[in-house]
Amino acid sequence: MSVVRTKSPASSPATGSSRSLPYPPWLEHAVFYQIYPQSYCDSNGDGIGDLPGIISRLDYIASLGVDAIWLNPIFESPFRDAGYDITDFRKVAPRYGTNADAKRLFREAHKRGIRVIFDLVAGHTSLDHPWFTASRQHGANRYTEFYHWSRDMWQCPKEGNWIHGLGPRDGSYLANFFWSQPALNYGYAQPDPRYPWQKSASAAGPRAVRRELVSIMEYWLESGCDGFRVDMAPSLIKGPSDSKVLREFWQGIRRHLSDRFPEAVLISEWSNPSEAIRAGFHVDFMIPVGPAHYNHLFGCWSQIKGDHREPHAYFERAGGGDAQPFFDEFLKQYQATHGQGFISIPSGNHDFARLRHGRTLAEMHCIQAFLMTMPGVPFFYYGDEIGMDYLENLPPKEGSFFGRTGSRTPMQWTPGRNRGFSTAPAKSLYLPVDHRKNSPDVQSQEKDPSSLLHSFRRLVSLRRREPALANNAGFRLLHSGYPLVYERTSGRRMVLVVINPRREPATFNLTRPARQAVDLDRLDGTAELVTGKQSLTVKCPGLAFGIFLRKK
Ligand code: BGC
Repeated sequence: MSVVRTKSPASSPATGSSRSLPYPPWLEHAVFYQIYPQSYCDSNGDGIGDLPGIISRLDYIASLGVDAIWLNPIFESPFRDAGYDITDFRKVAPRYGTNADAKRLFREAHKRGIRVIFDLVAGHTSLDHPWFTASRQHGANRYTEFYHWSRDMWQCPKEGNWIHGLGPRDGSYLANFFWSQPALNYGYAQPDPRYPWQKSASAAGPRAVRRELVSIMEYWLESGCDGFRVDMAPSLIKGPSDSKVLREFWQGIRRHLSDRFPEAVLISEWSNPSEAIRAGFHVDFMIPVGPAHYNHLFGCWSQIKGDHREPHAYFERAGGGDAQPFFDEFLKQYQATHGQGFISIPSGNHDFARLRHGRTLAEMHCIQAFLMTMPGVPFFYYGDEIGMDYLENLPPKEGSFFGRTGSRTPMQWTPGRNRGFSTAPAKSLYLPVDHRKNSPDVQSQEKDPSSLLHSFRRLVSLRRREPALANNAGFRLLHSGYPLVYERTSGRRMVLVVINPRREPATFNLTRPARQAVDLDRLDGTAELVTGKQSLTVKCPGLAFGIFLRKK
């Protein structure tokens, strides 16, 4: 099935009817796959992944059953932050290929029913971007107000990452992330009268920057791109991240986008879905940072001590964690956004240690079942479908400070040389491959029907087939201890999900009429249901899950 892009509002595949939805209908069923382009597949033997390499793997990606891929930035850059520091937003970096390769990627992906979204680094450029080079000159020019410059070096606010003394302009500039990423000036929510150079979002300078942003988005959408993951989305307007000005800024971009490209998606790195979706995004992540995070589940910042984490995580074989704080936040976010947009609980990304770190493959089966049965839009980071591990103690590469290198290592395709990633000599690889005994690879897992890879495919296809598992289907938490138990519903269909991510078995009594119980069919997993007269007991062995369907 290929992707056909419509220019007018599309009808929903779920109902076949033309409904007015606050998001493109394809999001109701979409599963995304994130590709770190440097590390996916090297087609020309130079040691670094590239677009032709990704194109050559599209049949594999299609075999996973996913609907869309998100690529980290592939644009021209000095790579002081792995490409999140752009010098030309409209040009593919030569190390990845050409703009023609990007267009071929869109075409080839669309033929296979896969959409492609790019990373939109909207909040900053590289220090070497021609806009910034012009902006830091002494004397006014077209780009003078494209960035945040204090009037002179000593008169800048205490808060914020102000960089002094670059020159020739007499002033300090505001960096958005690293020193090499000057923040673009989209204006201030509440300009501070003590600093007259602070402008509102409707001032001429900020309006000009906004026009550039829209034009970059249109350039790629017209070339065949299907939407964007927006980097540091709340950082654009300076001031509180719940300001009306910030919300109106994104709502305006979203309106413009939806009018011209009704099927394009906007996905934010905000980590506060209720704010992000109110601001017009279709999807927002709950990642390990920000107000809405998933650290209680996975212990992303915990220390790994043998079979457990400190502090404990819910998903650990020792079973010492508590999932309730996660669900308190999740339910708050879910209630605020249900029907309006989607939360994404991603399997990982390029900024955090992989969930496999310190965990066995059996634990990863439980995590996969969880991510694939929760509401919202699933995002799987490349390699998580086979349980790739985080590599400890690698030095920073292209600004991958704070331990990010170990999550960015090459995709493991085969058990052989360079794990099938590249034909280059091992010492010229972008990053070393994981050569450890028992580290997973695609080829070996293809041969093993019980592998994480096969389970991934089964779960994606189940999610697609079963309306009660659709991204927008209902959710009710029944038990947040061990085992985890929840219901997903669509109309009269109900799916019961039971997951026991600890080593010890776990049981849970559901008080339900027996008649409903006997109608439950197991769709996947090894957990058992034992039917009593008035009750139903879920019996879950250690490190197991069960997905059951009640048909009516
Ligand atoms: C990206 C990072 C990047 C930063 C600055 C983040 O949110 O995911 O990888 O370093 O933004 O652009």
